Amino acid sequence: MGIQTYLHRTEEQIAEACKRAGRDQREVTLIAVSKTKPVELLKEAYEGGARQFGENRVQELLFKIPQMPEDVRWHLIGHLQTNKVRQIVGKTCLIHSVDSVKLAREIEKESEKQNLVTDILLEVNVAEEESKFGFLLDETEEALKIIHDFSHVRVCGLMTVAPFVEDAEKNRPVFRKLYEFYVDMKTKNIDNGSMTTLSMGMTGDFQVAIEEGATMVRVGTGIFGAR
Ligand SMILES: *Cc1c(COP(=O)(O)O)cnc(C)c1O
Repeated sequence: MGIQTYLHRTEEQIAEACKRAGRDQREVTLIAVSKTKPVELLKEAYEGGARQFGENRVQELLFKIPQMPEDVRWHLIGHLQTNKVRQIVGKTCLIHSVDSVKLAREIEKESEKQNLVTDILLEVNVAEEESKFGFLLDETEEALKIIHDFSHVRVCGLMTVAPFVEDAEKNRPVFRKLYEFYVDMKTKNIDNGSMTTLSMGMTGDFQVAIEEGATMVRVGTGIFGAR
C-alpha cells in the first residue's frame, strides 16, 4: 500500500474516533510527522491531501521547506535548543515543544526582532518521565502566566508526548489529565482565550487521545511507515 492509502486510513480512524466521542471531525487536525523521511514521500502525502507536516529537527525542517509547496504548514514537534531559535522563527505555523520559560523568552526576543508573533504550545511531561522534555503539570500554570505576558509569542495550547505503551488504553488517564488541566486554565482565563489547541496522540494512541479531547494528533509511522 502507498502513503496515500495509509494517510486516508488514518483520516478514517480519526473520523471514527470523533464519532465515538460525539465530536465534530473538523475539531481535529492531523499532523503528518515526516521526520527522517525523504521529500519524495512528503510529496506523495501532499498529493493525497496532507498540508500539515511535523518535523522534530530544525536542520531537517529547513532542508525540506524549500522543496515542498508553499501552502504546507510546518510544525516543529521536537526539542528546540535556544541556539537554534534564530533559524526557526518565522518558518513554522506552530512550535509544539516549548519546554522552558527560557526558551519561550528566546523565541519572544527573536520574534520581536523579526516583527512577528510566533504561535507555540507548552509541552507538558504529564507522566513525569525522566527521559522526556516538558514542564511538569504543577509548573505549567506559573509558566503560562509568565509567557502569556510576552507580546511576540502566543500560547495556543498544550502538547504532550505520552509514554510508549503496547496498550493505548494505558495512556487514557494521561490524556484525560492534560485535557482537564487545559479546561481548567481556560476556565480561569489564564490564556485570555488564546488556548484552542491540545496536541496529543501519536500512531499508537491517537484514537484514545481524540476520545479524551485532542485537537491535534501527530502521526508518523501510521502514515509513512516505520523509521
Ligand atoms: C516522532 C514523533 C511523533 C510521531 O510518532 P509515531 O509514533 O511515528 O506516530 C509524534 N510526536 C512527536 C513529538 C514525535 O517526536
